[in-house]
Amino acid sequence: MMRFSSACLLACLSLLSVGSYSQVERCFSAGYLEQLSQDDPSLADLQETIRERATTQSYGRLTEDEVYYIPVVVHVVYSNTSENISDDQIYSQIEVLNNDFRLLNDDADKIPADFADNAGDALIEFRLAALDPDGNPTTGITRTETSITQWDINAPITADNNSEKVKADSTGGHDPWDATCYLNIWVCDLGALILGYAAPPGTSLTKDGIVVGYKWFGSGGSAVPPYNRGRTATHEIGHWLGLKHVWGDDGNSCAGSDGVADTPNQAGPTYGCLSYPATDACSPNPPGIMFMNYMDYSDDTCMYMFTQGQANIMRSVLEDERASVVACALVVTNDSLPPGDEPVFIYPNPTTGFAWLPIDRLDSTTIEVGVYNVLGQQVIQLTHDSRLPVGLDLNDLPNGAYFVMASDGLKTVNGKVVLLR
Ligand SMILES: [Zn+2]
Repeated sequence: MMRFSSACLLACLSLLSVGSYSQVERCFSAGYLEQLSQDDPSLADLQETIRERATTQSYGRLTEDEVYYIPVVVHVVYSNTSENISDDQIYSQIEVLNNDFRLLNDDADKIPADFADNAGDALIEFRLAALDPDGNPTTGITRTETSITQWDINAPITADNNSEKVKADSTGGHDPWDATCYLNIWVCDLGALILGYAAPPGTSLTKDGIVVGYKWFGSGGSAVPPYNRGRTATHEIGHWLGLKHVWGDDGNSCAGSDGVADTPNQAGPTYGCLSYPATDACSPNPPGIMFMNYMDYSDDTCMYMFTQGQANIMRSVLEDERASVVACALVVTNDSLPPGDEPVFIYPNPTTGFAWLPIDRLDSTTIEVGVYNVLGQQVIQLTHDSRLPVGLDLNDLPNGAYFVMASDGLKTVNGKVVLLR
């Protein structure tokens, strides 16, 4: 009798556990796109266009070996100390992203042999911003205490706790930094059922970015199993870069698709952690469905790959709708200055047309100043008296990132500036 009871207790606990996970909606991005599309019906069409062009044109393959960098700002919006996650927790998340989007994740060795050729290095990396929108040094992290104890994407839009209100200072959250330059990530309490959601390409700049529940942000540390390996942010940034769920959001049918040729057809989301191979009605024979894809709903330890087709879509967005973010990374992160040169900070940065170059570290009174676009083409050349600040008139140039070099023949200084109107 006792043995029977123990077995029953275990089974019941197990069922309860499975039941609680199955109620989790890992991601609200599809529903969010529906909400956004009510105001802007063209948004859904744009997502289809993005995925179609990546299969039919050279999109995503313009610069096959070039790593695209994305400047990130993390807005922590908290009502208690648990929600105010640590800097280390945030760093662990950035590390996960840089591994996952480069196929450097240490669980990539679990990719089944039948899917190994599909696995893709997206050549995308993430850097916490080093300059804020005013050109001031920053950690790339903002912290805002709020009176909202829990945000809810399904609350009425007029409700104080509708989670979209986490995206504005005036409603208890934090304004986005210029979304043409930065990937904004809001981390807050989204409740227990929705782990995160993402704004797709084309979203208005006041709403652009991703939102992730504080319990699921970062790897280890304060993150809560089974979503404690940082894969919620990996998944949501996949959406932010144009990806759809791997099953195509078609209501368990086999008719719809995610628009990616190298992901198998799949009926619906996968929860928990399946054993390979797993099959369903849409992929009834091994190797079956790709439940280990980041765009499925598997537990964090059971998803570990993007495909090459998905990588092409994401890169195509960074070459088109989100090209300004890649350009901006040249300026607001610490990675792009040529070695051996002396950096100077140009201000304001970004600028709407006019900026100052402080160059009093040069010795000669006459200096040559050159402004170059991201292709390395010189777009402005001038000679200047180094005892005076150099004014840079960029008003005739298109928006984008520019390198500035100044030399007196002995020493060269350089800087970066983003032009954004
Ligand atoms: Zn999703």
